[in-house]
Amino acid sequence: MCGCNADPTAPPAPNRTPSGGSGTCCWCTTHTRNVSRSSADYRTSTQSPPSNKKWHLTVNLPGNQVLVTTVFKWGTIASGVTEAQKTAIKDGLKNRVPAVWGNKFDLKITDATCTPTEKTLPIRFRVLWDDETTIGHHYTANLAVGPATSDITGSNANFDTLDTDDNSYTLCHEYGHTVGLADEYLYRGQTSATVVYKRADGTTESLTLPESGNIMATSGNFVVLKRHLFFVEIEAQELLRSGDGLGKAGITCQVV
Ligand SMILES: [Zn+2]
Repeated sequence: MCGCNADPTAPPAPNRTPSGGSGTCCWCTTHTRNVSRSSADYRTSTQSPPSNKKWHLTVNLPGNQVLVTTVFKWGTIASGVTEAQKTAIKDGLKNRVPAVWGNKFDLKITDATCTPTEKTLPIRFRVLWDDETTIGHHYTANLAVGPATSDITGSNANFDTLDTDDNSYTLCHEYGHTVGLADEYLYRGQTSATVVYKRADGTTESLTLPESGNIMATSGNFVVLKRHLFFVEIEAQELLRSGDGLGKAGITCQVV
């Protein structure tokens, strides 16, 4: 017994549960956000105009992970596409995207008013089909017989049956466009281009294309770089600063 009470007859103070502010446990809750915004909020490219991007963010603080979820639904399936090819595309997205994109970098979340003052979580990826989740679909997956052009146009993800070749490289590269990343090679006919990535702290990272040796630059290359995940720190910081998150204006998120 410490004998701390000035008046020994006073009852002990109630064990208060803080309702907000600095007393709130920072790391005890899960925060989610369904994202729909311009790719220009994440990066600009002089060779491609911005477009709207959709995905879902989970910052699971007690579960120790940041999860990027993208939900597809089937759209137009060309005649001649077999059920096996359709299944292979779906499996490629669901299995290869998490393997290639996930657990490459972490998100460090910092706030001086929290105890401890920082937490670092692995950034992971998940691809679902619309019948597997209550999250609405973000993209409609159309499938053509390959060879054909694969791209992300608006909310259409256009794939072909050859996109599972080379360990599903094309699926994994196009996935990068669904979350707003730009190509880091020069399009045919272009002689120069600049991509500028934005960060949550307001700084930028500028590239003069062509780059090489990463998933957004080189066919068959699966290297994911830190800049490719800056979009996660931007969105997570906004979420945790907002009322839907921790409502902490001073909290910062950084891909590390
Ligand atoms: Zn591309």
